[in-house]
Order: sequence, then C-alpha cells, then structure tokens
Amino acid sequence: MKSLLQKTLEYSSEYLSSLKERRVAPSEKELELLHRLNHSLQEEKLNPEEVIGLLNEVGSKTAVANVGGRYFGFVIGGSLPAALAANWLAGTWDQNAGLAATSPFGSFIEDVCSRWLAEILPVDKNSTAGFVTGVTTANFSAITAARHSILIKHRWDAEANGLFNAPEIKVVVGEEVHGSLLKALSLAGLGRERLIKVPVDSQGRMRVDALPEMDENTLLCLQAGNVNTGSFDPADKIIPLARKMNVGWIHIDGAFGLWAGTSEKYKHLTNGCELADSWATDGHKWLNVPYDSGIVIVKDAINLRAAMSMDGAYLDQSGDRIPYQFTPELSRRARGIEIWAALKSLGKKGLAELIERTCSHAKRFAEALSKEGFEILNDVVINQVLVSFGDSETTNKVISKIQKDGTCWCGGTMWQGKTAMRISVSSWATTEDDVEKSLNAMIRIAKQVLYEKTS
Ligand SMILES: *Cc1c(COP(=O)(O)O)cnc(C)c1O
Repeated sequence: MKSLLQKTLEYSSEYLSSLKERRVAPSEKELELLHRLNHSLQEEKLNPEEVIGLLNEVGSKTAVANVGGRYFGFVIGGSLPAALAANWLAGTWDQNAGLAATSPFGSFIEDVCSRWLAEILPVDKNSTAGFVTGVTTANFSAITAARHSILIKHRWDAEANGLFNAPEIKVVVGEEVHGSLLKALSLAGLGRERLIKVPVDSQGRMRVDALPEMDENTLLCLQAGNVNTGSFDPADKIIPLARKMNVGWIHIDGAFGLWAGTSEKYKHLTNGCELADSWATDGHKWLNVPYDSGIVIVKDAINLRAAMSMDGAYLDQSGDRIPYQFTPELSRRARGIEIWAALKSLGKKGLAELIERTCSHAKRFAEALSKEGFEILNDVVINQVLVSFGDSETTNKVISKIQKDGTCWCGGTMWQGKTAMRISVSSWATTEDDVEKSLNAMIRIAKQVLYEKTS
C-alpha cells in the first residue's frame, strides 16, 4: 500500500508541477489516449500499481487543467493545497457521513463548518448548513424545505402524501434564473415552467418595480451572482417588499456570489441576502475545494429536516446532528472535511484576499481588453467578464482559437442577445503572470482573426 501511495504522490506532484507549462485543455492528439481505458474488461486481476500507472498515463494528459491558473471557463475554481490534501485524507478515511453512528467525526466536522459558514457568509446567523454535491442539489434541498414550510401551514404533509391535490405553490424567479434552479424546481415537483419570471435590467438583476403580487403560498427565488455578469439581485430592496406581502419562503441561489459577502470590499453587493430563508452555495467554485461540494443553508433547520426525513421523525431536535436529515442522501462522503481544511487554511483574511484578488484579476482582463478596442458587455462587479470581439461569428471564432491554442481556456455564452466570451476568475492559483500570459494570447488571437476577416 505504501509504495502505491508514494507512486500516487509522485504522479500528483508531477501533474501539479506541469500546470505552469502545459496546455489548459488537452489537444485532439492527447484525447486519443482515452481509448487506452476502453479495452474489454480482462478476466484476470491486475495489480494496483499497473492500474494506477495506466490511469495516470491517460488522466494526467487528458485532464482539463482547471486546477491551474489559466482556466477561466464557466465558474470553476481550483483546489487549495489544504483542500486537496484533506481530500486525499478523506479518501483514506472513507467515512460514511450519513449518520453520526457511522462517522462521529464526519458529523462533527460538518457541524463546525455549518457554524463557521453561518458566521462568515451573508446569511441568517442562526442558520444551519447541509453538505451536498453541488448547487443544483443545494437548490433542490432548499426548495423541498420551502415546499414543506409552505404546505404544512395548510396542514398538507407533502413528504407523506406527495403533491397531488396539494394547495398550489406559486414560484417567482428572475428572468436570469440559472438553469439548475429550474431543474431543482422540476425535481421537487413544482415544475420548471409554471413560474412567474420577473424582468431584469441590463446586468441581469431582478427589477424591483416589476415584482408581481406575492403571498404566503409564494416561493421567491433570488440570485446572488449571475453566472454571466456576476451581478446580484437587489435583495436589500426586494426582500423587505416581499416580507410585507407575507411571502411564504425566500431562497437565494448564491452559487459563487454569496462568497463576495466575506470581503469588506464586496460585501455591499450582498446586502439584504441575510434576510432570506435559505441559500445555496458551492464549495467547489470560489472557495476552491475539490468537486462534489455544494452547501444548502436554511434559517429554520426544522423545515429541511422535515423535507429530508425518512420517516417523519424529525421533531426531536435534541442531541447531535443527524446528517442525513440535512441532505437528500443517506450514505455519502464526509464533505465537511475539505471545506473545514479550506476555511481553516485561509482564515477570514485569506478568504477575503482570495475573493479580492480574483476580482482584481477580472478587472485587469476587462481593462486590458477594452483598451485594445474590444467591447466589455457587463459591469465588472466581481470576478466575471463578458467580452465581445465583434459579431457572433467573429467572437465564436476567437473563442474556438483560444481554446485550441491552449494558453488559457474561456467559454462562450449569450448575453442579452449578444455572443460573448466569458472570463471567470475563480481559482486561487491564478497569478498576475497567468493573467498577462492569457491576455497576450487572447489579444494576439483576436487581432489575427480580425486581420484574416478584413484581408
Ligand atoms: C454554477 C451555478 C449553479 C449550479 O451549480 P452546480 O454546483 O454546478 O450544480 C447554479 N446557480 C448559479 C448561479 C451557478 O453559478
């Protein structure tokens, strides 16, 4: 075992030190290596060294280097050193965090993280967190808590009896709602199309003057951090109005944006978020924890515990956390381990620095590209930049060439009818040097595409 793990350490270290020089996305040729995994399964055993050796030969060449400093696609963080190391240990320990009985450690560390998160994030200070796979599941979990809370007031037990013939829940979202929240609504039986969509402004923020009538049967979903522009729905204006209408439940999808609340400099953007009933956020995005790290946070844990209970026996709130009453799963990994390590290694200052540093890299991208004459489509309020290189065809061509070039990686998106390249700076690992190197590649490629177009 020891020599196998030492070999694994070598492979991991080699991969991590290759990040500075290697291409960000694998080349077509490297991707051909994937076929080496696809032989039919042999009859005989194979020793673990050979298995891991083959896995490394293929994986280290075909992995997308999003843990390096020059990956700016979607909203994807890297892995902080302490979080990666904790992830190795977590694998070694292989705790089943579904019950305190199967892992007192897994349950306890989640409780600690839950308290820390309630303290540092812009949420109600008495909230409780559950540790799930990602924000899709965090949104889903929060929505089931909302569903319980709204229906139980009508003495309708949705967990026991389902939704047929239940009182109707009205769902209000912004026009810029993330697709994963719609999926979560569909999973929760509320439907992804029977919604009221509130019009948004030029940055994708819900318009306060366009709010519909809402009541105690309404679930209102706001967003902290638009996946394109990074903008925030004005929670400080909307939530007090919604409370006046006696809205049933207010949820905030803050997959990455909620973390802006941990920085004095950006905190104002999240004003009012703490007035909601539930929040969904990711550990695997801006906190830079390895994948499979979503967090659902609820003000009144009883609603989440009711929704996630297996037998309706959730009313006894004495005693220790019963982890499965906070997540859809029973058996699962102890996801608190990496979150604990990430937060502990950063401290409050380090976390604020991570947020501020990535935001200032995003500003640098926007300023430099704008100076070269390219159009920035959004107000760069946090870590997201949308840039257009001209018409759709030209912008798409530039994006595709940047991806092939391999210096950095950015994806395409549509913003209010315009094709854009999205730059999301979410990794702790991005340095000024990475930014300049990437800018040089972007500008060189864009100029070349424009030159080819005119000549
Ligand atoms: C990324 C994102 C999601 C989905 O999160 P997953 O962790 O990928 O499930 C939802 N909402 C917003 C605003 C996001 O940025």
